[in-house]
Amino acid sequence: MLVLCGRPVDNVGMDDLTRSSAVAIIGGGPAGLIAAEMLSRAGVPVVVYDRMPMPGRKFLMAGRGGLNLTHSEPLDAFLDRYGTAREFLAPAIEAFPPACLRDWAAGLGQPTFVGSSGRVFPAAMKSSPLLRAWLVRLQTSGVEFRLRRDWVGWDGHGRLQFRRHDGAVETAVPAATVLALGGASWPRLGANGAWVDILSERGVAVVPLRPANCGFEVRWSDVFRQRFQGQPLKNLALSFDGRMVRGEVLVTAYGLEGGAIYALSSGLRDHIASHGQVVLRIDLCPDRTAADLRRRLSRPRGRRSHSDFLRRTLGLPPIAINLMREAVGPSLPEDPDEMVHLVHAVPIELAAPAPLERAISTAGGIDLAELDGSFMLRRLPGVFAAGEMLDWEAPTGGYLLQGAFASGVAAARGVLAWLGRNHPPPASDR
Ligand SMILES: Cc1cc2nc3c(=O)[nH]c(=O)nc-3n(C[C@H](O)[C@H](O)[C@H](O)COP(=O)(O)OP(=O)(O)OC[C@H]3O[C@@H](n4cnc5c(N)ncnc54)[C@H](O)[C@@H]3O)c2cc1C
Repeated sequence: MLVLCGRPVDNVGMDDLTRSSAVAIIGGGPAGLIAAEMLSRAGVPVVVYDRMPMPGRKFLMAGRGGLNLTHSEPLDAFLDRYGTAREFLAPAIEAFPPACLRDWAAGLGQPTFVGSSGRVFPAAMKSSPLLRAWLVRLQTSGVEFRLRRDWVGWDGHGRLQFRRHDGAVETAVPAATVLALGGASWPRLGANGAWVDILSERGVAVVPLRPANCGFEVRWSDVFRQRFQGQPLKNLALSFDGRMVRGEVLVTAYGLEGGAIYALSSGLRDHIASHGQVVLRIDLCPDRTAADLRRRLSRPRGRRSHSDFLRRTLGLPPIAINLMREAVGPSLPEDPDEMVHLVHAVPIELAAPAPLERAISTAGGIDLAELDGSFMLRRLPGVFAAGEMLDWEAPTGGYLLQGAFASGVAAARGVLAWLGRNHPPPASDR
């Protein structure tokens, strides 16, 4: 088992303001760890702080269902996935593009492959071999890890303050700081968004954190909830605002989850924020034309129940038939044309996004205008920020990890430039 621990650290006295030559990386997720690696390779001493007993917990979780490291689509299309943040992130991603991330993984003994959807995965599919090899390499190259250190801000002397798990407070005055604290989804994995208040108090503008790649709450009837929660609805097409996504969703006690709805989630979420609710259209038979449906639905139903008729003529499972009842009430239309319309576009009212804690990722974060081109906070010289804590969002598909890695690399390059300018080596060393 890999053991990561720092040297025992004493509390630094209140009068000790000596600046260390080390760079403090706060947050040991992909963004922080890649920044640590870049700096360490450049010969800069690095200390990585994390509030968890082990770095990379979310990265590890991301590998549970297959670690989608990045995507193979052309770079221009790739960059479009970052929406309004494209312009800000493009230089970082161009400097550390998907090919570099794949080479980096291969360098750790984890070659990647392109799946049928264009998504890129490590051959082992999991994160654990990659993370294990990465942490060993970082430790071997001298990166120091101080874990179970909760960063709580700066003290009155400008020192970083960390609360240890034993309650003691540890301080540090690093040569530069990289904040890579993540968003606020899945807080039990470490990133809990507590940094928002710390930075806001320092005048840094933070766009409110919101769920991204998230499920939605639906006011199911008790009958539907009890009967169908935990069941998937497969082979669907979901539509909203002119966008259509093929895939499946999972019915949960509180609403809908799953890849297809995550793909539409930013637009759905923003519509709810401005209008109070939103209607999602679900096509239950996306592979059948309206004419085919009409022909089948025009057959005489005889004495069969509506459910039995729909099951036999369209192959719809009970969950799909009852979803239509949730939308229009217990009596389904008798008219074939109305029924065709319903099957192709079941209107499901979404009441709210699922809570941020359950989302795959976080929208919002440090306003990008607060950062200069080197990822340094304009108001806090010497403090850089990277990863999901910045105000960008992207769909699933490897874009989140690519964004975290590329911004971590960019912040490290920013630190190197800053150190060169502000802490130049003595003249004799130059
Ligand atoms: C279930 C799941 C599956 C995912 N799958 C994928 C996928 O397949 N592909 C993909 O691209 N993305 C995926 N993601 C998203 C991806 O994991 C994140 O976008 C990525 O980890 C963000 O990296 P980060 O370094 O910015 O933040 P994080 O990985 O969240 O790391 C932040 C670190 O900061 C530490 N920290 C936070 N606050 C403090 C503090 N006050 N003091 C000290 N330390 C602190 C945390 O403990 C944590 O270690 C998935 C996410 C989830 C939840």
